[in-house]
Amino acid sequence: MASGNPFFDDIRTKSEVDPPQDEDMMDVSEFVNDPAQTALKPNVAVSSSVRDLLECPVCLNAMYPPIHQCSNGHTLCSGCKPRVHNRCPTCRHELGNIRCLALEKVAASLELPCKFQSFGCMGIYPYYSKLKHESQCVYRPYNCPYAGSECTVIGDIPYLVAHLKDDHKVDMHSGSTFNHRYVKSNPQEVENATWMLTVFSCFGQYFCLHFEAFQLGTAPVYIAFLRFMGDDNEAKNYSYSLEVGGNGRKMIWQGVPRSIRDSHKKARDSFDGLIIQRNMALFFSGGDRKELKLRVTGRIWKEQ
Ligand SMILES: [Zn+2]
Ligand SMILES: [Zn+2]
Ligand SMILES: [Zn+2]
Ligand SMILES: [Zn+2]
Repeated sequence: MASGNPFFDDIRTKSEVDPPQDEDMMDVSEFVNDPAQTALKPNVAVSSSVRDLLECPVCLNAMYPPIHQCSNGHTLCSGCKPRVHNRCPTCRHELGNIRCLALEKVAASLELPCKFQSFGCMGIYPYYSKLKHESQCVYRPYNCPYAGSECTVIGDIPYLVAHLKDDHKVDMHSGSTFNHRYVKSNPQEVENATWMLTVFSCFGQYFCLHFEAFQLGTAPVYIAFLRFMGDDNEAKNYSYSLEVGGNGRKMIWQGVPRSIRDSHKKARDSFDGLIIQRNMALFFSGGDRKELKLRVTGRIWKEQ
């Protein structure tokens, strides 16, 4: 199209570099340029050229009303319009304030398959409600629940379980009770470090037990919490308890596992788990406070 236009290239590069500001927004948009999706053959008679017309030339996302156009007819999405300083990114003419009603109407007449068709969704949706469906589609893939790195792998649960095992070398256990020892020398050095993920399979489901150090205000603490590998409505069917103690003291936490749809950070930052002050953790560890040795026991059960 206008690939020779330096202004155009500049804008596109910029929009790619901008980090996403909002995690919920990411959920909706991060698969937009997914090769799996672009490779999808539409099973309705909508020619791909119409879909191309609805692609914003700047951000490459699908355009929704109001769709803008310059006096030469080049179109632009409403998100990109304020960023191009009133110059059409394609022909550099003044952009003005012209709506492209014809294209908006064409879009309204389209019906397209859900972009998670390759994950099993067979739904066909009117153009303007497709995005809303996709943001809640039960077939939409999950993000990798591993917390120790910025892993970008997505997939369904069986795929992610295999990925955790093979690529992250995560410990896998079957059974609904557990007894885990977390040992760390030089615990004073651990600041905001993520270091433990264990996966449990029971009741035909998978659960992630996270254990990590972080800073609560100025206090160094440890947190242990469970996440459910599935959707939130199913997570609510389960409960879990965690116990940690030593030297005649004991702390007990009972909770409901969070869906891995919620990011690991969101679960942690809402303190939805067993929180142990470092001093207490070292006290539980016994010895000379040089080494963290925590025994965490727990149980997962299904609510009736
Ligand atoms: Zn755009
Ligand atoms: Zn133009
Ligand atoms: Zn769907
Ligand atoms: Zn991963």
